[in-house]
Order: sequence, then structure tokens, then C-alpha cells
Amino acid sequence: MEISVPTITCKRCNYTWVPRKADVRLCPKCRSARFDQAREPEKCFLCGQQSDDMKQVIGNAQVYNLCPECREKKENDNGL
Ligand SMILES: [Zn+2]
Ligand SMILES: [Zn+2]
Repeated sequence: MEISVPTITCKRCNYTWVPRKADVRLCPKCRSARFDQAREPEKCFLCGQQSDDMKQVIGNAQVYNLCPECREKKENDNGL
């Protein structure tokens, strides 16, 4: 018979581990104390849409978040 082991998955880095203690404070991989809280989804600089697949683009000494859609648009638009 298999015993199911309780595991914890870090919502920040997706690392899954078996807790040794009942009291878990840190993700063993990314050391985040907030492993049980997902990161706030970033907002797209251009359309304001929130996405988990945001890419940071550096332009004009600033960092912008771009959602996949706006990234595609930007790639098709060579003028920018
Ligand atoms: Zn983690
Ligand atoms: Zn966008």
C-alpha cells in the first residue's frame, strides 16, 4: 500500500518538496517565505493587461513589461 506523502509546491518557483517539519517557513529552493502566495501578475506597459507570461523589455533606459500580444505587435512593428 502506498502512503501519500504530503508535498508543498512553491507558487513562486514551482518547486515541490516534502516538508520535514510541520512548520514550513521557507521554500528550500528560492528561499521565499511567501511560497504559498503566487506573485502578483505583472501589468503590460502598453495595454495594461495582466499576464503570467510577461517579458521585461528594456528600452530608453527603462524596463517595460510586455504581454505576449504586445510583444508580437512590437516585433511586427519595426518603427518602434
Ligand atoms: Zn520556491
Ligand atoms: Zn499588452
